Amino acid sequence: MSFSTSVLRPLILQIAEHPWSRRIVTATRPGRAVASRFVAGESLEEAMRVAAMIDRRRITSMLDFLGENVRTEEQAEKARAAYLEALATIDRAEDLDCAISLKPTQLGLDMSFEACLSHVEPILDAAKARGTAVMIDMESVGYVDPTLRVFHEAHARYPKVGIALQSYLRRTERDVQHLPPGCRVRLVKGAYLEPPEVVFTTKGEVDASFARLFTTLFARGHSIDVATHDPRLLEGVRRRVDAAGEGWSRVEFQMLYGVRRDLQSRFAGQGYPVRVYIPYGTEWYPYLTRRLAERPANVWFFLSNLLRTR
Ligand SMILES: Cc1cc2nc3c(=O)[nH]c(=O)nc-3n(C[C@H](O)[C@H](O)[C@H](O)COP(=O)(O)OP(=O)(O)OC[C@H]3O[C@@H](n4cnc5c(N)ncnc54)[C@H](O)[C@@H]3O)c2cc1C
Repeated sequence: MSFSTSVLRPLILQIAEHPWSRRIVTATRPGRAVASRFVAGESLEEAMRVAAMIDRRRITSMLDFLGENVRTEEQAEKARAAYLEALATIDRAEDLDCAISLKPTQLGLDMSFEACLSHVEPILDAAKARGTAVMIDMESVGYVDPTLRVFHEAHARYPKVGIALQSYLRRTERDVQHLPPGCRVRLVKGAYLEPPEVVFTTKGEVDASFARLFTTLFARGHSIDVATHDPRLLEGVRRRVDAAGEGWSRVEFQMLYGVRRDLQSRFAGQGYPVRVYIPYGTEWYPYLTRRLAERPANVWFFLSNLLRTR
């Protein structure tokens, strides 16, 4: 097990939950500078500017209005309104292939399944009217069952809805057996701090699970968003899809804004479908902490900047 996966990543995620950490990161210039690498901006306009810019490099996009674990109806309504505004704006930007990605806890899942669905449905209806693809993010393990329930309801209403599944979870191998036939799946490794009983704990196991899940999903006829920056996994997928000889109509590479731009450009330049996940909004702190934990070098970069400005 690598030191980074087993010690640093959980440690960073734990420290990040402390209110002091939040204050230091969100209220200082170095904190905001690191955030700007991973977050397109605080407004929809800034996110759309990034989408238009990467479109020129033949890379498509997916907007994520940042926020999670809302506690009030008012907050969930605000998120719903933001997504409706994003859909209307995407619609006006002709020729831009731009999807949206939703987090169930941002739309009220902590309040109730019904509350969440009441916010997801109008977003789906607006997306369906415009033919915009919608993805549902997967959050920490306690939310997997209700998120899959939301997804099944959403998919029945609008078949262009897809779901993210995490290869670090041992249960995912079973979950794929119960998906609607052929539905769109975003395959990720998983970004949350989870108890060792439910996840594979070594990078080798998580990667092997990712490769196995890809094989299963591909054989079962799903559309698959291969959402990773791991060159070895990407290369493995590239070879298998090329070898299958059925083209790239149901597999695309997805990466995060600000991560491995070299790979994004290289695959897009070679003609492979690449989509970038573009987060925007003011609630960027939890998203940023997951990005910092994935690569501890990001934290050293932040800390050295912080010390230099003191
Ligand atoms: C489009 C997209 C959507 C996602 N949606 C979800 C979701 O719904 N639920 C969920 O749990 N997770 C989601 N994730 C995050 C995912 O689970 C991983 O945490 C994240 O992608 C990092 O893992 P990796 O697959 O790139 O592999 P890793 O093995 O972690 O990284 C491989 C290489 O990528 C580079 N890299 C990775 N992360 C960073 C970083 N933060 N900064 C700089 N370089 C980095 C490094 O070069 C590293 O060596 C999503 C990821 C993507 C790309």
